[in-house]
Amino acid sequence: MKSSQTRTEEEAFQEAEAAICGNPRVGSLLLLFVTGDLPAPEQAKIERHLHTCLRCALDLPAMRMMARSLKRVCLQEAGAGR
Ligand SMILES: [Zn+2]
Repeated sequence: MKSSQTRTEEEAFQEAEAAICGNPRVGSLLLLFVTGDLPAPEQAKIERHLHTCLRCALDLPAMRMMARSLKRVCLQEAGAGR
C-alpha cells in the first residue's frame, strides 16, 4: 500500500540535495564543512550529499585549498600585527 502522505526516504533525500545544490550559499557551506565549523547534523548532511553529488564533490578540493590559504592569511595577519 502506498500512501501519498508518507514521504519516502529517497524523496526526503532528494529534497535535502536540492536544498544544498540550490543554495546560493553552498560555497560557504562547503567551506564550513571542510573547516569542520558546521554543526554535526549539517556536517553529516553535507557528507552524505557529497557521496551522491559529483558537482559538490568536485568543488571539495578547491574548498579545502581555499580553507587552507584562508587559514594561512589569518596566521600571517596575526603575525604581522605584532
Ligand atoms: Zn551538490
